[in-house]
Amino acid sequence: MRTIGLIGGMSWESSAEYYRLLNELVRERLGGLHSAPCVLHSVDFAEIEELQATGEWERAGEVLARAARGLQGAGAEIVLICSNTMHKVAGQVEAAVSVPLLHLADATADAVRAAGLTRVGLLGTAFTMEQTFYRDRLARHGLEVVAPDAEGRALVHRVIYDELCLGVVRDESRAAYQQVIGELVEAGAQGVVLGCTEIELLIGEKDSPVPVFPTTRLHVEAAVAAALS
Ligand code: GLU
Repeated sequence: MRTIGLIGGMSWESSAEYYRLLNELVRERLGGLHSAPCVLHSVDFAEIEELQATGEWERAGEVLARAARGLQGAGAEIVLICSNTMHKVAGQVEAAVSVPLLHLADATADAVRAAGLTRVGLLGTAFTMEQTFYRDRLARHGLEVVAPDAEGRALVHRVIYDELCLGVVRDESRAAYQQVIGELVEAGAQGVVLGCTEIELLIGEKDSPVPVFPTTRLHVEAAVAAALS
C-alpha cells in the first residue's frame, strides 16, 4: 500500500476524522491489524485563517507547498489537502511535488455522478461557496452547483469558523443548516455537498431530505482506493 501524505490542521478537528477514517477503511479493506501508512503535516490554523481573511492566498499556498515537499521527503506517495477551502491553492501545492495530489472536488464529483445526480447544493466556507475554484472544478465533471443565498452563506460560514473548527457542535446550528438545506432542495438540489471537512461533524444523512456528500469521508475513500491500486 502506498503511503498517504496529509496536509492537515485546517482545522485539526477534521484532520482527526481523516486519520480515524483512513485507518478504519484500511482495516475494513485489508483486515487484521492493518492500518494506513501515512504522514501528517499539521499547520497552525490561526496563521492560515489570517492569510485567508486578508486574501494572501499566495503566501498560504507557499506554506502548504512547503508542507507537501516535507511530506514527499518523509515518504508520502500521494498528497491530500485536508480542507476544501485550501484547494484554492491546489495548483501551487501540485507544482511543489512530483507525487500526485488527490483533489477533493474530483473525489466528491465522482461520488455525486456515481449516485446519478447532476444538480447539487454546496455548503462550505464563503470562499468555497462564492469563488470559482471549487464550483468550476465540480462543473468540469458536468455538475450544476446551487449555493445558499447571502444570508444562508453567512450563517454556514460563521458556524464553520466560530463553532465546528473549535470542536463545538450545537443542535441550534444543526437546525439552522437543515433550514438552509431545505432551501437548496427547493431550488432544485438533488443532493448536498458538505463542502467543508468539518460539516460532517454536524450534519449526517438523517438530517437531510436528499443525499449528502461528506467530503472528508469521500476524500479518504478515494485516497485508500488510490493507495491500494
Ligand atoms: N476545513 C474547512 C474546509 O474544508 C474550512 C477550514 C479552512 O478554511 O480550511 O473548507
